[in-house]
Amino acid sequence: MTNIDRPSWTRTVDFTPGLYLKVRRRTTRLELADVAAQIGTIPHVPEHDRVAWLERIEADLVPVSPITIDQLARVFRLDLQVLAALAAIARGERDAALTPRICRICACSWRLPCVRGHEACAWVNGQDLCTACDHPLSGAAA
Ligand SMILES: [Zn+2]
Ligand SMILES: [Zn+2]
Repeated sequence: MTNIDRPSWTRTVDFTPGLYLKVRRRTTRLELADVAAQIGTIPHVPEHDRVAWLERIEADLVPVSPITIDQLARVFRLDLQVLAALAAIARGERDAALTPRICRICACSWRLPCVRGHEACAWVNGQDLCTACDHPLSGAAA
């Protein structure tokens, strides 16, 4: 496990599983309450408690279970392999140098690109930034 290829791009955000989920949710323009309303009945808690629970997951205070990941993936788009890699890094089972390339703004990845019309985004050279975020249509500040 010593043959590590250092990435040829600069990582500016240290994504954790929770931060990844949070950015993907925000990119999908969903509030925590929207997600809480859409995920199933596991755990069997009222919706306002589910919001607090999702908040704790996004803050990496509680680990996200496979069942929850499955539910979240039905509400907004997730790259499950990216999430698994981030979880392995968080557990110290994977070198942080092997962090998958993730857009620092929208958290897209090569398996899960932003699609505008029929065009998928690409990487901005050498950066953890995708072309969709580099030239936002709205021009709104992040
Ligand atoms: Zn992006
Ligand atoms: Zn993108």
